[in-house]
Amino acid sequence: MDLYSDVLVVGCGVAGMFAALNIDRKYKVMIISKTEACDCNTYLAQGGISKAKNKKDIDLFIEDTMKAGKEKNRLDAVRVLSEESIKNIDILMKFGMEFDKDGDDFDYTREGAHSINRIVHASDVTGKIVFETLFNQVKKRDNITIHEDTVLVDILKYEDICIGGAVIKDGDAYNIHSKFTILASGGIGGLFTNSTNRRGSTGDGIAIALRNKIKVANLNYVQFHPTALYEKDVKNRRFLISESLRGEGAKLINKNNQRFVDELLPRDIVSNSIWQEEKRTDSNFVYLDLSHMEKEFLKNRFPGIYNGCKERGIDITKQPIPVTPVQHYFMGGIDVDLNSKTSMDNLYACGEVSCTGVHGANRLASNSLLEGLVFSRRAALNINKKIGNTSMVNLKERLKIKDAQVTLDSNLKCVLEAFSKVLGEKKNELINS
Ligand SMILES: Cc1cc2nc3c(=O)[nH]c(=O)nc-3n(C[C@H](O)[C@H](O)[C@H](O)COP(=O)(O)OP(=O)(O)OC[C@H]3O[C@@H](n4cnc5c(N)ncnc54)[C@H](O)[C@@H]3O)c2cc1C
Repeated sequence: MDLYSDVLVVGCGVAGMFAALNIDRKYKVMIISKTEACDCNTYLAQGGISKAKNKKDIDLFIEDTMKAGKEKNRLDAVRVLSEESIKNIDILMKFGMEFDKDGDDFDYTREGAHSINRIVHASDVTGKIVFETLFNQVKKRDNITIHEDTVLVDILKYEDICIGGAVIKDGDAYNIHSKFTILASGGIGGLFTNSTNRRGSTGDGIAIALRNKIKVANLNYVQFHPTALYEKDVKNRRFLISESLRGEGAKLINKNNQRFVDELLPRDIVSNSIWQEEKRTDSNFVYLDLSHMEKEFLKNRFPGIYNGCKERGIDITKQPIPVTPVQHYFMGGIDVDLNSKTSMDNLYACGEVSCTGVHGANRLASNSLLEGLVFSRRAALNINKKIGNTSMVNLKERLKIKDAQVTLDSNLKCVLEAFSKVLGEKKNELINS
């Protein structure tokens, strides 16, 4: 069967839905998600979204982002991120997003490597509220449809222009023809034994890009979050203990009750210190000490973490949290320009699957949701300009279901091979390698 849509969006996280909502309402948009719509990393985000506090803060926000990224960032992209942060948070709020407030202003919080408090949040379940806000808007739009349990296997091409996607749904193979395609298929954490990500985040977009010779960048820039809950023999994703806890004063201590690092340094430095401390003290974890923090504050400000830990047998108002670094985020991805356009015509990429270069070699905390907003909107606005002059190409060939399944397997092999090559000794943490 063949389906037709002006725009095909692959992914139902912050990047996919915000892109769809910014496409001109006169065009038909089809969003597909591999599994259930809420089964995305966006839903899991805890800490919040960075934003320049005001115009005066734009330069300092750029400086903090560049420093955390080891100056490997693309400065023009970082400038766009910082300058457009205020506007995009406004748009998100117009869609109905409610952030925690301190009087009339935001209740700004802080995370590692930010010079000031500039993170807006909805307690510690920011991603869930962002997802629900966007999902509600998407459902109200007549021009947008969502197709769950629909897996992109490959893009469709005509003379090296992207003309849609080949998908598997309900055990059958389909072509979805589109004038423009946006890949917003998220990160790679599902490839790792230990990651905070959904297991389904298996770098599908990266695999498709690699196989189709679409330009990718910085595959070696993989971020390890310093503080995931340490649990023995857990096969599922690791439970994150948000950096905002450290921003609010939580301290890292070793098994001898000693502090060993400044908790608010960039993530890569804190993760490395923890690994060294674990080695030095012959332990698999260190602790996050909250003993000096008010019990009621912890329960009210961090209900997600409080409840998540309680379910796992840890009462954070009474005991320190065992934590260790695990894979968390991917700074590299499909290489895109400032409008999120890839090296292939009519194909865009945004969110974690893309590499805008804003994060450099190490992402500054809470810059990911912001990147998802800013650069997916840019993709949509750029498509709006071009789509009136673009026609649909109807590709006659269609993958048979058997071949589609073989392609899916080869996608997985392709990303595993690519990351095994670039990760060196860390490759042992990859599943299946
Ligand atoms: C536990 C946790 C906490 C975090 N906290 C924060 C935070 O506080 N602040 C912050 O800025 N960032 C945070 N992050 C990072 C941030 O949440 C993600 O980087 C961001 O949400 C990625 O959004 P996305 O839209 O690119 O991808 P996702 O939200 O991961 O969505 C990907 C979508 O693509 C779909 N998809 C994938 N492959 C296919 C396929 N082959 N076919 C069809 N569909 C496909 C999936 O089904 C899904 O709908 C956190 C991440 C985690 C895991």
